[in-house]
Amino acid sequence: MPRNIYDEDHEAMRASAREFVARTLAPRAEEMIEGKSIPRDIWLEAGKQGFFGLDIPEEFGGAGVDDYRFNAVVAEEMSRFNAATSSCFGIHSDVCPPYVVDLGTEEQKQRWLPGMASGELICAIAMTEPSGGSDLAALKTTAVRDGDGWVLNGSKTFITNGYQADLVIVAARTDPSKGAKGITLLMVERGMEGFVNGRKLDKVGMDESDTAELFFENVRVPDENRLGEEGMGFIAMMQRLPQERVGAAVSNVAHAKAILEETIQYAKDRKAFGQPIGAFQHNKFLMAELVTKIEVAEAYVDDCVAAHAEGKLSAVDAAKAKWWSSQVQNDVLDHCVQLHGGYGFMNEYRVARAWRDARVTKIWAGSNEIMKELIGRDLGF
Ligand SMILES: Cc1cc2nc3c(=O)[nH]c(=O)nc-3n(C[C@H](O)[C@H](O)[C@H](O)COP(=O)(O)OP(=O)(O)OC[C@H]3O[C@@H](n4cnc5c(N)ncnc54)[C@H](O)[C@@H]3O)c2cc1C
Repeated sequence: MPRNIYDEDHEAMRASAREFVARTLAPRAEEMIEGKSIPRDIWLEAGKQGFFGLDIPEEFGGAGVDDYRFNAVVAEEMSRFNAATSSCFGIHSDVCPPYVVDLGTEEQKQRWLPGMASGELICAIAMTEPSGGSDLAALKTTAVRDGDGWVLNGSKTFITNGYQADLVIVAARTDPSKGAKGITLLMVERGMEGFVNGRKLDKVGMDESDTAELFFENVRVPDENRLGEEGMGFIAMMQRLPQERVGAAVSNVAHAKAILEETIQYAKDRKAFGQPIGAFQHNKFLMAELVTKIEVAEAYVDDCVAAHAEGKLSAVDAAKAKWWSSQVQNDVLDHCVQLHGGYGFMNEYRVARAWRDARVTKIWAGSNEIMKELIGRDLGF
């Protein structure tokens, strides 16, 4: 099915992202796996190529593009390379900047946005805590007023880009009596006393991404680092989670689609009983099902991207796109592993890594159960 949401300008952006992958990322794939992170110079190069500042106004060093479809093509191309790069770049460039652009003061925008656009300031967002991530309103990290600032105490876990982060948007409880309305966003900067970026966590997949614990021990955060109004942090997160979820959906589909294309080629090349394994009716029908699944998922996600570009994507539709695409991705990749036989279980084959990487997409950005909770509530239950 021809896709109809992207025009030639989006395709030009796609070509430049693809070129960046081939020239800068692909030759260093092993280095990123071994280092469990994306090296700093790659962040800077991606910034120079203009992949980070899409949502950031030109006066603050960004591209000032008010069209989410550009973000989506970049996410697709990064996912075709690997899911981890798409996730790390996505958090930095699609998830974090809107908080500063929408909620930041003029001074905060001048202070942070140019570095976010250039890749000099690597960003993370820290909501999840060791005690729980789904029930965000119950978070325990506290920030207590002290003179002209705050004293922050607590910890966060599973934070993407957490180890390398220079800037972290931290959700903290500023009023214990108010539940969701007692949460405020504070910008914590590398080097603040008492702020520790913990070790890189040892994950089942997404080897190239740095995922870390963060610790805050009596960190003094000046009030100039408060993002948005006191007590409005939960609402700010709820308003911006649809962009994170549609981005996740874009990546899920593009990631699975790339691996499926490779698998179809493999099924043409690999022979058993004197014929290509794809020629056995079971496998032929299976691949027919898989391409159909991908194309149907892609059509829904494309509609979400188009709606989001017009500012019309609902939180419920973003939730549908997120859970469905991650389920489809996992189903498709599991079959792709099977079609590769034993090679499908070898790390040197992309399909094996992709299969491991995909698993987390049913858990993060709001678990699939939480997505169904949102959709179910919208049905009136
Ligand atoms: C690699 C990775 C990267 C991540 N990056 C980030 C990041 O950058 N920033 C960040 O803040 N977080 C991040 N997360 C955290 C992620 O968003 C959480 O893991 C997720 O929201 C689930 O929270 P939890 O792990 O505490 O599970 P829990 O909330 O403890 O849930 C455990 C299980 O119970 C289910 N459950 C919970 N409540 C309900 C309910 N009401 N109905 C039905 N089932 C329910 C969940 O779906 C899940 O299956 C990341 C996680 C991983 C693994």
